Amino acid sequence: MIPYGKHHIDEEDIQAVADVLRSGVLTQGPAVEAFEQAVAEHVGARYAIAVSSGTAGLHLAALAAGVGPGKSLITSPITFVASANAALYVGGRPVFADIDPDTVNMSPGGLKEALGKNPDTRAVVPVHFAGLPCDMPAIKSVADQAGAVVIEDAAHALGATYPNGQRVGSCAYSLMTVFSFHPVKAIAAGEGGMITTNDEPTYRKLLRLRSHGINKLDDPFQLPEQAETNGIQNPWYYEMQELGFHYRITDIQCGLALSQFKKLDRFIARRRELVKRYDEAFAGMRNCRPAQVGGREQSGHHLYVLRINFDAGGLSRGQLMQELKARQIGSQVHYIPVPAQPHYRRLGFRPDDYPNAHKYYQEGLSIPLFYDLTDKQQEHVVSAIKELLS
Ligand SMILES: *Cc1c(COP(=O)(O)O)cnc(C)c1O
Repeated sequence: MIPYGKHHIDEEDIQAVADVLRSGVLTQGPAVEAFEQAVAEHVGARYAIAVSSGTAGLHLAALAAGVGPGKSLITSPITFVASANAALYVGGRPVFADIDPDTVNMSPGGLKEALGKNPDTRAVVPVHFAGLPCDMPAIKSVADQAGAVVIEDAAHALGATYPNGQRVGSCAYSLMTVFSFHPVKAIAAGEGGMITTNDEPTYRKLLRLRSHGINKLDDPFQLPEQAETNGIQNPWYYEMQELGFHYRITDIQCGLALSQFKKLDRFIARRRELVKRYDEAFAGMRNCRPAQVGGREQSGHHLYVLRINFDAGGLSRGQLMQELKARQIGSQVHYIPVPAQPHYRRLGFRPDDYPNAHKYYQEGLSIPLFYDLTDKQQEHVVSAIKELLS
């Protein structure tokens, strides 16, 4: 079976994990800091905070941005549920801005409209869908005008660059950027996430929130009289200064992630090569086209998504997926629009309020794209799709 996505683990990765297991430190040790430093340096951000998952990263980012009761967070309807759930976790209100049909990313126009209707918006969370960077200069300028901070959901976009050459994660257009290291993403940590930022107060707050809200670095004590006896620091003393979480990641995971991270450029280069081959193969088709056409040099290429006109093809999407499966080819739909989920419908959302997202959802299908996909396997995928859609 050829899955739609898959991680790549080699002996070096296995050795890296074994090295951590032999080191005597399992969590909160040198591998966490080394991984944070490597990512910060690579993307060009001042700070990086590793956490237990991308979802945990989005939760902490929403909290650090000040989303909460009476405040809204605007994201894209075409994303994994975690982007919007971050608002609900902190008692805030999720809002969706429709996508641009040519990029499947949040459209700056849609964002402007959503901000106009929701003046209580504290944070805007654009999602770099399939790895393609959103129009960040426009999104940042619209968010700035409304006094909202930007948090990039870059779960798909490790290794991606903006058109000006800066890397996603540099926070050139945002207060924070969040990555995921779930095995289906660019690099695997087993589970894991990372928040990058250039803002020191935000960094300090995230460090506390990651670990129960306990003071970190040289945070001043709130009860200094409790911290010392006769002018001498009490060695046991620490303070829980706000309500935080246990969202730490382990050294075991970071050992793997760091080893994987060294291969990132190679991973992305192969994905880009496969994407170009798909683009060429599907160029002349009538009922089917790539969902994203531009930015092939900038994208992190997390997914390869086709838009298929199932009404014209005589085959439903379910049937096509079944036929592909019978040919050992996996496929998936990314994503069911978040406002269409039962939990969100109960909150009053309606998927047809976002016409571009709604239409995209009728047509989208992700086909296999991962580092180990061979040319031969890709040719099999292409010929199966051409046969089934002709
Ligand atoms: C995977 C993903 C997340 C969540 O990341 P986890 O590490 O699985 O918690 C968030 N947003 C998007 C767009 C994702 O694809």
